[in-house]
Parts: sequence; structure tokens; C-alpha cells
Amino acid sequence: MKHACMRATRLASDSIDRKLTLWERLRFHLHLAMCRNCRNCEHTLRLIRRTTELMRETQYGNIKLTDLQRERLHAAINGNNQN
Ligand SMILES: [Zn+2]
Repeated sequence: MKHACMRATRLASDSIDRKLTLWERLRFHLHLAMCRNCRNCEHTLRLIRRTTELMRETQYGNIKLTDLQRERLHAAINGNNQN
């Protein structure tokens, strides 16, 4: 993994725990504009975060997904997202 990709992955992870500085956001989004792998990684992290939030909001193991949500989840996990 390239150094820039490792830094971008770290920023993607950090962005879950805290608000990134302006400089960090600029570097991060510039890198995402150039790197498909990191865009996919960032997308997957956002999906995991959203899934975790949904699980927190509902009873564990009792989440009802629509067919579209299920398809998007499978596509994102398999790296076939189209966003
Ligand atoms: Zn990258």
C-alpha cells in the first residue's frame, strides 16, 4: 500500500472518531479524487459506520433491510459499489 493511501485510510478512520481539520479534509478529498481504492475503502467505512448506527438505533439482530438496502450492502462488501 502506498504511503499516501495509508495516510488516507488513517484519515478515513479518524473521521469516524473526530472532525478532521480543514487541511486534513483537503488532503483526504484530493487523494480520494485520484485513488479509486481509497474511495472504495472510504465508502465501505461509511457503510460500516451507518450499519453500526442502525444497529444501535434498533434491537440487535432484529434489523429489517429492504431488498435494495440488502443489495447495496452486498455490493459494497464485495467492492462492486456504483457510487
Ligand atoms: Zn489511495
